[in-house]
Amino acid sequence: PGTGAHTSVLLETVGSRHDPPSPSLHAPSAPPAVAARGLTITDSEGRDYIDACGGAAVSCLGHGHRDVIAALHEQADTLAYAHTGFFTTEAAERLGDRLVADAPEGIGHAYLVSGGSEAVEAALKLARQYATERGEDGRRHVIARRQSYHGNTLGALATGGNEWRRAQFKPLLMETHHIAPCFAYREQREAESDADYAARAAGELETKIQELGPETVLAFVAEPVVGATAGAVPPVGDYFRRIQEICDRHGVLLVLDEVMCGMGRTGTLHACEQEGISPDLMTVAKGLGGGYQPIGAVLLSERIYDAISNGSGFFQHGHTYMGHPMAAAAALAVQEVIARDDLLANVREMGAHLRARLKETFGRHAHVGDVRGRGLFQAIELVADRETKDPFDPALKLHARIKAAAMERGLMVYPMGGTIDGARGDHVLLAPPFIVEREDIDRIVERLAEAVDAGLGEVA
Ligand code: PLP
Repeated sequence: PGTGAHTSVLLETVGSRHDPPSPSLHAPSAPPAVAARGLTITDSEGRDYIDACGGAAVSCLGHGHRDVIAALHEQADTLAYAHTGFFTTEAAERLGDRLVADAPEGIGHAYLVSGGSEAVEAALKLARQYATERGEDGRRHVIARRQSYHGNTLGALATGGNEWRRAQFKPLLMETHHIAPCFAYREQREAESDADYAARAAGELETKIQELGPETVLAFVAEPVVGATAGAVPPVGDYFRRIQEICDRHGVLLVLDEVMCGMGRTGTLHACEQEGISPDLMTVAKGLGGGYQPIGAVLLSERIYDAISNGSGFFQHGHTYMGHPMAAAAALAVQEVIARDDLLANVREMGAHLRARLKETFGRHAHVGDVRGRGLFQAIELVADRETKDPFDPALKLHARIKAAAMERGLMVYPMGGTIDGARGDHVLLAPPFIVEREDIDRIVERLAEAVDAGLGEVA
């Protein structure tokens, strides 16, 4: 049933069907979720929603998976918590071993934390400690890209390139530098080949490093496939191989943030595998634990580990819940099921189907400028005008209207909106669990088409 809430321009979440609104600051007036199984989340009024975005690209295995629940029970029964200042645990060790065994070449260690932002903070500090252990105290500048998101804690927020998120907190943020993203739909020139565009976009890093002074640059941070801020934007051509070459040549550490696009979401365990590169540091989270527990990790190269362990001997960092055995047990179970059931093959197959259905449905839509992504990480970008690619006025909050219209139709999608120098057109991100089937995808795309037209009907 419609509530009328979606007609309010104030709405940022899903619409205010619940009165009084939730006292929590997380999501005022969101419906209470009471149960979840497979692709479906059910609210307190008994309404079902297809989780077509895994929340925020988190639920890779779907909800309520018996094997993960069993692993959690067993871990809780055996050992729920032991502080890493005193002990390691079998769950954490086994997860670390697994992450390293499956990691890109050169990665030799895993540092377990509680989420994506924590992983990014730890990666920044690992980079800095690596530099200081080597006597390179001058290396302090972090370069990242506009239209990126790396988390909401202060270091991660400073690193991200979304001005809308940063603006009011700027006085608290460390100095960072941002170059253009590799964003073909928005930045590639007409008649510019992929190779030329990749070279031009990567060349921005070289220019920025020269401008700052190579010996002062610590790290370059990027999402291989950009997630929340710009909507599943994949790189073009050999962009990342060029980036790696530039970083290596200047002794700048390459930090890949795969918090959203990683752990199988794009069809390979790590998105960077498809780029043929191996970073110095990599962050993962979301799909690592599939939402069963909060968990993130930094994967670090042998050379970073060696510099620190042969130097001061320990990484000067830590959190109370790092390496948490419950979180590690959940993540281990999630990753074991994904491997056992060969779900990455399904990500590739269903990803291709999703993409084809999106192209078919939106390819000629007057207000859909782009359909893009990799694997089960796909997005559509909405534009006021397909020719000029002009976005809708951000004040219209088209993305939020589409989200509300989708929720009314029992569909969860992840929309983000045009902002100041942010993702200029509103976009809708789809990231369904890896267990998704053809019929689910057909239903998702049908409901999305209705929701997009309903949202547009209010503004266009
Ligand atoms: N990095 C990327 C690429 C993300 O997409 C996110 C979250 O959306 C984060 C970091 C922050 O992760 P968390 O929300 O778990 O702190």
